[in-house]
Amino acid sequence: MAVPERGARVVAPFGPRRVIGVVTGPAKDPEGRELKDVLDVLDESPLVPTPLLDLAAWMADHYLAPPGECYRLVMPPDGVRASRAVARLLRSDVPAGNAVVDALRGGPLRVSTLSRRLGGDPASRLARLRREGVVAVEQDLASRGFRHVQVATLTGAPFVPRGKAQTEVIDRLRAAGGRAQVAELVRDRPSLRGAVDRLAELGVLGIEEERDARMPGVMAGEVAGRPEPTADQAGCLRALDEAVARGGYEPFLLHGVTGSGKTEVYFRAAETALVADRGVILLLPEIALTPLLVRAAVARFGATVAVLHSELSAGERHDQWWRIREGESRVVIGARSAVFAPVPDLGLIVVDEEHEAAYKQEDSPRYHARDVAVMRAKLESAPVVLGSATPSLESHANALKGKYRRLTLPQRIGPRGLPRVEVIDRREVMRSGGDPILTPPLREALEARLARKEQSLLLLNRRGYATSLLCRECGQQASCPNCSVFLTLHRGGRQAMCHYCGYQVPAPAACAFCRGEYLRLTGYGTEKVVEAVSAALPKARVDRLDRDLASRRGAVEKVLADFEAGRTDVLVGTQMIAKSHDFPRVTLVGVVDADVGLGLPDFRSAERTFQLLTQVAGRAGRADLAGEVILQSHWPDHYALRLACAQDYEAFFEREMEFRRTMGYPPAAALVNLVLRSRDPAAAAANADQVARRLREGAAGRYRVLGPARAPLARLKQEHRFQILLKGDRTSMREAVRRALVERYGETRWPGVAVDVDPVSVM
Ligand code: ADP
Ligand code: ZN
Repeated sequence: MAVPERGARVVAPFGPRRVIGVVTGPAKDPEGRELKDVLDVLDESPLVPTPLLDLAAWMADHYLAPPGECYRLVMPPDGVRASRAVARLLRSDVPAGNAVVDALRGGPLRVSTLSRRLGGDPASRLARLRREGVVAVEQDLASRGFRHVQVATLTGAPFVPRGKAQTEVIDRLRAAGGRAQVAELVRDRPSLRGAVDRLAELGVLGIEEERDARMPGVMAGEVAGRPEPTADQAGCLRALDEAVARGGYEPFLLHGVTGSGKTEVYFRAAETALVADRGVILLLPEIALTPLLVRAAVARFGATVAVLHSELSAGERHDQWWRIREGESRVVIGARSAVFAPVPDLGLIVVDEEHEAAYKQEDSPRYHARDVAVMRAKLESAPVVLGSATPSLESHANALKGKYRRLTLPQRIGPRGLPRVEVIDRREVMRSGGDPILTPPLREALEARLARKEQSLLLLNRRGYATSLLCRECGQQASCPNCSVFLTLHRGGRQAMCHYCGYQVPAPAACAFCRGEYLRLTGYGTEKVVEAVSAALPKARVDRLDRDLASRRGAVEKVLADFEAGRTDVLVGTQMIAKSHDFPRVTLVGVVDADVGLGLPDFRSAERTFQLLTQVAGRAGRADLAGEVILQSHWPDHYALRLACAQDYEAFFEREMEFRRTMGYPPAAALVNLVLRSRDPAAAAANADQVARRLREGAAGRYRVLGPARAPLARLKQEHRFQILLKGDRTSMREAVRRALVERYGETRWPGVAVDVDPVSVM
């Protein structure tokens, strides 16, 4: 058997089992241990392009993640198991008698079919025949699970129809322009099917099999225009077009204020890549939230677009993967995992809203799609564009250092400029007994919009009805039995829910601690805001967009479509509304409580608040109507609020960097966060102590070790959690963590340990 290529799937012995794995390279010196042979090679050539294999290897190393998990991300979505191998006879001069060879004389067969016909697994027999050069085993590229459809065409052969059915078929086909899917042709009259077959026999119709790529859930939009670039856009495009046409790795940071026309820049750069015959990946934080952008891309790039969204069925995902792999789809749009799309000859990667936390995968492997995109661009020798109105501190710092080339769009498209922002001090409103949810100015502004038939967005970054259920007798709050958090009340206060583990019960009627029956709902979330708006403006059509909807298929899309079509006057929502693109009739953005998030014990809380407020303010007044923003706060002097109102990114960056430098947080230093968890609190604590001690011994001034301490979320899903935070030089920390964990747990598995390199949040 030939040495399998890197990236090929092989069958390997694994204890008593046989498992399928991916070849990563020749084995290193086994150091006294016995190496076993591979039992079989499933792929003659690797399934994915080499840069993706390199990317998987890089991820495993950079994120200290299990290599298998990283390779799985770059392999076909049906996993490394699904085999559609086909065996084919290479020589006809083999004497009869070998069952496999005899079965193949009639033509190539699926290995699974062979195994059924011959009984038993033919793998070892096939392997021998392959070594002898008699048989080839290949992935069946033609029929890899694609659905096929029959298409009928009129051949033009002279003919006089016999009977009504034949005449009907011919008429229908002519009406369809001489070409149609057979299934469509006979859909309402299945009895015509016989006539179709007869006509095909007579040579009047040609029937061909065509692959039907399931293109789901993407409505082709009206073909939007292709506007002439503004001078600013043209400036960015000169640099990008040149980089794309030249090829080669080059990272860009496109810093453009909200509404400055970044999308058009992405699209034109993508066109340049297509002209150079190279593919494009466009990453978005969340596909469902930007239906307009997706539609614009589909209209612009047509059939060559593949949209990878989370509601694809397994079959659809499979089709899209292979369409991309074979170069049929050259423009791929998707959320974070689309960074692994197997685009051959990649010519451009765009990461829109690069500052978004949604790009970080919170389960193993804990990768950041923006950073992975930059690495992939490097491995593919392609330019990469990170775009944002509020770049992450990391990316802006990289631009200042010259690591990224900075491009700017400092102005909004159109005559309007950025919206006016008014800050309401909620402390004063509450002192005078006003409604803290809808202060009088916000309420009046909403009424004015309703009268003018304009739309409003109301942001409150907290879902649910009330934030807790408080016992007035003993002062305790209802909490989750599995996690150390209070339960949030939903459905008008009737349902109590844990936002961390999903635990749900009807809201208790009595306190769990003292059996007291005087319970009070405290705090409020989006549900309550909807209630308040409906009470204040009975005529308004109010809708809500938050995570509670996301579990219902298509619900997010429907809320957004209703709002876009003007069927909703006021849309209340969490940060999900801050991202939605470009609603021209929105002239008011109200922020119910701008301080949500500022109090969180996380080093990014100011950055997140600044980004959220800047982004949501950018939703107001984007077309020909002027916008207004009303921000309610208890803390109007906080720099994140003040500078977001002033839309002063540079000042915010300077101020926030000071804090990061003082405290040793990114981008001033790298972080690695370890969480050790166990149902037994003593075991978790002991493990954490031991690992932390080992890490301190190896520090030698290259990094600092904080903890172990109980994690901010001390108990989650019945497990106790301890946290160790490392700050300093990334390479040294990674090495030290690897050593400490291998020493404590062994080479391959670190049970109960979550390693997060470059964490986005340390809560
Ligand atoms: P951003 O992503 O930077 O927030 P968008 O890409 O959504 O901004 O663009 C804002 C609006 O400006 C959109 O309605 C878009 O169609 C429009 N637009 C973009 N470029 C041009 C242009 N060159 N001429 C006219 N309109 C444009
Ligand atoms: Zn819970």
